Amino acid sequence: MRSHLCNRCGSCVGLSEGAVVFEHRTANYRPGIVKPVNDLLAERMWNACAGHSFNFPEFNQKIYGDNSNFNQFTGVYKNIYIGNTTDEIVRQNSASGGILSQILIWLLENNRIDGAVVLGMSKTEPWLTQPFIATSKKEILEAAQSKYIISSVNELLPETEKFNGRLAYVGLPGQVQSIRKLQNMDDPTVKNIHYIFGPFYGNTLHFSSVKSFLKSYKLKDYTQITRLYFRYGEWPGNMRVELKSGRVIELPKFHANYLIPFHIVKNSLLCTDLSNEFTDISGGDAWAPVYEERGKGFSMVISRSASGQKIIDEMIADGTLELNPISEDEAITMHSHGYDLKKRGTFIRMRFRKWAGLKNPDFGYTITGFTFSRYLMEVVINLMFLVLGTSLSRFLIEQLPPSFVGGIFEKTRTIWKKSTYKIKRKKLNE
Ligand SMILES: Cc1cc2nc3c(=O)[nH]c(=O)nc-3n(C[C@H](O)[C@H](O)[C@H](O)COP(=O)(O)OP(=O)(O)OC[C@H]3O[C@@H](n4cnc5c(N)ncnc54)[C@H](O)[C@@H]3O)c2cc1C
Repeated sequence: MRSHLCNRCGSCVGLSEGAVVFEHRTANYRPGIVKPVNDLLAERMWNACAGHSFNFPEFNQKIYGDNSNFNQFTGVYKNIYIGNTTDEIVRQNSASGGILSQILIWLLENNRIDGAVVLGMSKTEPWLTQPFIATSKKEILEAAQSKYIISSVNELLPETEKFNGRLAYVGLPGQVQSIRKLQNMDDPTVKNIHYIFGPFYGNTLHFSSVKSFLKSYKLKDYTQITRLYFRYGEWPGNMRVELKSGRVIELPKFHANYLIPFHIVKNSLLCTDLSNEFTDISGGDAWAPVYEERGKGFSMVISRSASGQKIIDEMIADGTLELNPISEDEAITMHSHGYDLKKRGTFIRMRFRKWAGLKNPDFGYTITGFTFSRYLMEVVINLMFLVLGTSLSRFLIEQLPPSFVGGIFEKTRTIWKKSTYKIKRKKLNE
């Protein structure tokens, strides 16, 4: 925990038979041991934990075999597409093109699954996330859209074990990796999971981001929140807070991104998996001016396994999805900043951590050979996270209106992206 290796996936909590629980969900959100754990259970939890180790090459081989395309940035894939669902209601209610929710709905309506593990917001504490098993289109749509605060989907393992039927599962890369480890162990908690899907993953934030956002509007009590959205409305959507008083606060997603350097969960910076490499199908935003100008919502979709490809083919054939294939190069270019952060930045950060005597996760592979300028850039990034993550910086930023800070953040980010473009793109497609 002290080395930031825990991604809060929730597997240890889910497997622990009540011995481990998440504590302080609106603060550090850490698993704490509340009852004695015997050696057998401890070993099961440790083996399921992807925070300390997950062997990418080994699991690539086990899950996909040799028959697919592989690229060190995208992982194993069969095809890469840009597109959206043709159901406008699903598209409007989702984060990007509505692909992930639509796949779950389609599987349910075609009797391929009986339920889907998804992440909604808590009914009793609507400011926190809550995983659950959705068994209807309505419930799947209730859980649509990205949640940018900590989620621990695998807390639900006792329920996935008890569930009477076939399940699809949606999770972030760390959560998916743990499910893959459990499948590899033939653990009974995952026996009902037939399909695994997931969003791309840049980073996630501590709950302090929500508190800080409210403080900027001179609001102190987060328990006044009745609904919390991170991607509300037309793509790319808004962060939106609805309060008991009837007041509604909204900020465009690109402006709300200002919260990232102040509240990022440090483990996000130790994750090397941007595109959710161990899913059957994964989906991200189609970040490119040509799509962003059109609004409405466009996704990048990566089919990885034979069963994932079969679903995509059938859904295109019956008109449920509109997808256009794109090349590996186009896909990498579209997310080059994200891949740079994950596939280069993480390995450089891990080197810095090694020098500082901190533990690193073991991913079974490493990428080396970065330029001096890329190392220098990483020093600047790390310094920025260090300084902006302090209580003083957070306090100072809360004194300014978020619409103003968000606008400055977006402009600064564009300048930073342009000025580091060459360093980041060097050899990216090789
Ligand atoms: C924390 C986070 C970071 C992301 N970072 C990037 C990025 O850097 N670049 C990029 O291109 N895309 C990123 N995405 C993915 C993007 O926001 C969309 O989720 C993706 O494009 C799929 O869109 P969709 O319309 O198909 O999904 P939807 O139809 O809206 O379905 C989303 C599904 O994901 C599940 N879900 C949402 N949030 C979480 C969560 N926190 N943990 C587990 N499950 C969740 C929901 O239950 C739902 O089933 C991120 C998503 C998340 C949650």
